[in-house]
Amino acid sequence: SKPASEWRRLLIKVSGEALMGDGDFGISQPTLQRVASEIVEVVRLGREVGLVIGGGNFLRGANNALTAVDRVAGDQMGMLATVMNAVAVAAQLRALGTEAVVLSAIDVPVICDRFTHRGALKHMSEGRVVLFAAGTGHPFFTTDTAAALRAVEMGCDALLKGTQVDGVYTADPNRDPNAKRYETLSHHEALAKDLGVMDATSIALARDNALPIVVFSIQSVGMLPKVARGEGLCTIVAD
Ligand code: UDP
Repeated sequence: SKPASEWRRLLIKVSGEALMGDGDFGISQPTLQRVASEIVEVVRLGREVGLVIGGGNFLRGANNALTAVDRVAGDQMGMLATVMNAVAVAAQLRALGTEAVVLSAIDVPVICDRFTHRGALKHMSEGRVVLFAAGTGHPFFTTDTAAALRAVEMGCDALLKGTQVDGVYTADPNRDPNAKRYETLSHHEALAKDLGVMDATSIALARDNALPIVVFSIQSVGMLPKVARGEGLCTIVAD
């Protein structure tokens, strides 16, 4: 894979939870503004940016009360939650002076355009931040898988995966004081050791398409633009 200095197009994945700030639900305005301004910094580095935002701050299929009754309905609600987050982040990006467009994997024509490969490519090459909403558009998938899929589809040089921790550890750093952070890791290792980087579907897709994944903390202020420059604390998953 290319060195960070040669990255032209990036896919950034931000979990829904990253927008909650100190709250335990929904969107915190100061946090939304902070995350959006870091995305603007990445744009100003000259990178083309695609964004996938999760929905866990509103609703998640796996722990949605409806899921026990109907998994598909629960996941559909989860996908709608990601549309809400994408609309919020796009609005905040525009308020900061950066052009942004929401493209959804499910039709929500009153609010945004539908994702098409050609439409997304055009927007990205014209310098707009493209927010890929509604995940893959299918139940039983996650927004991590959507992020890997869009990254591969759009020919991104890397997938920057913002999480609550600053990389991938040998064990859960919150529980095991001896846990060590990996500097680098192969896709195969991440899968075989089940290190919880992302779900297996997304790592397999990244592996099969030689897509590097950069795992960093979205909680750490200023880290996103740093990792986009190839600096900062992170774990790089690549073969
Ligand atoms: N979801 C789905 N298909 C997708 C992406 C997401 O059904 O392609 C649903 C699923 O219920 C998931 C929810 O949307 O739990 C929110 O996405 P995710 O859990 O990935 O959000 P995050 O954890 O990143 O906030």
